[in-house]
Amino acid sequence: MINKIINFFYKFLELDRFYFDKVIVTSLFFERAKTLATESYPYEFFGLIEGKIKNKILTLEDIKFTQQKSNTNRVSTIPVLFNSVNGIGTIHSHPNGTKNPSREDLKTFSKYPINIIFCNPFSKKNLNILDSKGNTNQFRIFFEN
Ligand SMILES: [Zn+2]
Repeated sequence: MINKIINFFYKFLELDRFYFDKVIVTSLFFERAKTLATESYPYEFFGLIEGKIKNKILTLEDIKFTQQKSNTNRVSTIPVLFNSVNGIGTIHSHPNGTKNPSREDLKTFSKYPINIIFCNPFSKKNLNILDSKGNTNQFRIFFEN
């Protein structure tokens, strides 16, 4: 009974809207990320993740508000623009192949529940999926065929 009431308010307040523990990477999303990363190389690209959460599953659908960064000395600087735009998460590439988030990355990551660093070479295993604190292995990741 108590659970039912809690669930009701949970749904009512839409608190479950941003909760997920499983991530599905659609082939469209991956191909788009790969194209953006490859076309931007040797520069970084930045984008906001478009996706849907249902039953604690986040499906990554597309990337919007993409931007290319032409200053290679400043790896991992996500434009301020993103702070004012709604999105479930961020994605950006690391053309130099660095897996770890920079200090500036972490600052931006803290505003989003999911963040992706796409490392060179741009294959599925280099799609690094992190949470708001920059931790990996927080989600179960599945690639759509
Ligand atoms: Zn970065």
